[in-house]
This record gives sequence, C-alpha cells and structure tokens, in this order.
Amino acid sequence: MPDIAFVNGKFLPLSEANVSVEDRGFQFGDGVYEVIRSYGGKLFRLNDHLERLKRSMEAIHLPPASTREDVRDIITSAYQQSGYPEAKVYLQVTRGAAPRDHQFPQEVRPTVVITVRRLAPLPSEVREHGVAVITVPDIRWGRCDIKSVNLLPNVLSRQTAQEKGAFEALFVRGGSVMEGAGSNLFQVGQGKIATPPKGSLILSGITRDVVIEIAKEAGMEVEERSLPLESLMKAEEVFLTGTTIEIISVVAVDGVAIGEGRPGKVARGLFQRYRDLVAQELLA
Ligand code: PMP
Repeated sequence: MPDIAFVNGKFLPLSEANVSVEDRGFQFGDGVYEVIRSYGGKLFRLNDHLERLKRSMEAIHLPPASTREDVRDIITSAYQQSGYPEAKVYLQVTRGAAPRDHQFPQEVRPTVVITVRRLAPLPSEVREHGVAVITVPDIRWGRCDIKSVNLLPNVLSRQTAQEKGAFEALFVRGGSVMEGAGSNLFQVGQGKIATPPKGSLILSGITRDVVIEIAKEAGMEVEERSLPLESLMKAEEVFLTGTTIEIISVVAVDGVAIGEGRPGKVARGLFQRYRDLVAQELLA
C-alpha cells in the first residue's frame, strides 16, 4: 500500500482520509500530536513518544482514547502496512468533532489520526556542510512543552527562515535561545555541551534525551541551562536535534559563522554514536 492513514478505527489510503469540518483540531487547534520515525523497518523509541503523548494529553485534559498497548499496536500495524523501511509516522489526537463552542463538549469522542509517509533522506550537503539558521522572537505561548497541533508561530518562523535561505528558525525569548521551530538546540564549548533546560518553554525532544544520554556515556559534561544568544554566537559548535533530522550542525546564525563555519567534530562524533545506538536498539 502507498501512504497510509488510520482515521477513527479504519485504515485507508491517505488520499481518501478525512475528518469532520467540526473537528476541534480544525476549529481550535484543540489537539496534540507525535512524530515517530523508523529505521530499516523498525520504529525508534516508540514508548518514549507514547509517554510524551500521554503527558501532552493530560496537560490538555484529554482522556486516553485507548490503552497504550492498543495505540502501540495500531501504530505498528499502520507502519507495517505502508511497507516503507524509512518512514515518518504522525499521530494526531484531537478533542473530536462537536458544534463549535470554546468549552469542552459534554461528551468527548476524540479523533485519532495516524498517517505514515515515506521519509526522504536529508540532502547529503546538509550533513556535509551543515546548515544556516536565523533567530526570530519567540511569540509562542507559555506551554511549549505540550506537543500541540497549534503550530502557527512555528509555521510563520519556518517560512521566514525559508525565505531567507535558512534551514531553521531559532526562537529567542528574553535574550536566550530556546529551540528551533521543529528542533532542539545544543551548543558546544570548553569540552561541554549545553542545552536549554526542560520546562514549559521548550518541547522536551526525544532526540534531545538520547543525545544527552550518549554524550554522558562518551564522558562529556552536559549542562542544562539557558543559552544567551550572545554566548551561542561564540560557541565552538552548535547543533540541532529532532526525530527526523537526528543531529545537524549549524554553521551560521543570522549570517554569522559559528566556530570555523563548518560541521564540528563533537556533533559528528555524537551523530556516529547516535546511529550506533539506533542500530543497537533496533537489533535488540
Ligand atoms: N522542538 C520542537 C518545537 C519540535 O517541534 C520538535 C519536533 N519536531 C523538537 C523540538 C524535537 O523533538 P523530537 O526530538 O522529539 O523530535
């Protein structure tokens, strides 16, 4: 089968999938989501994604639509039906269809949508040469830890980045860099790596956690602290992390070169370790 969708209990080709115009995801952005990727036929860190989904759902007072095991089985089944070795699986859960009214409907029937798409490999020059990014004011709300389908600030920022020939937009709040529109952020300096702390102002990335884990295993010191933009500009290396991009070196911020203006060896080393860990976990 080609690109697959699962909508409220049924599998069908993506092109035939629909939700109601009264869906609260469409009307209010009243929903949450996850993105999971596969490597060579296996889904990576599915449990971690389901745990974060649970946290996002609890945060918006959306009761679980099914058990964790059922969600796992449906995702796995959707993924297997697609037949793609490298895929990205989107899971969206909204507060369902109901006549438009801001408060929750009396009876909530969540809409559950899963889509599976082929994951195109990143252009090789991205890995070889790194990417340029821009900074933008963080105009998001105060609960960036919820993986909400409300992504307008991210959409607008990524569009601005694209128009300026940049790969990503970094959100700056109170002089500190928080994360990208779709990625977490690390800086390297004096043998340590640093990344903004978990909390309500960033999305706690699954890849971020993995990178911290492998950096510590490699004997590196990891600091979770705020990253003033000024210090980021002077970092030896900067890199982004995310489920689909994995680890990507940033070689310029707002047109100013970072370090030597090419991917650094810390990010390269971590990427190698990341791929080793993926191989180990998926063979297990
Ligand atoms: N921050 C934001 C705002 C994101 O949208 C994402 C996911 N695309 C991330 C960070 C990275 O999270 P993960 O590693 O779980 O993909």
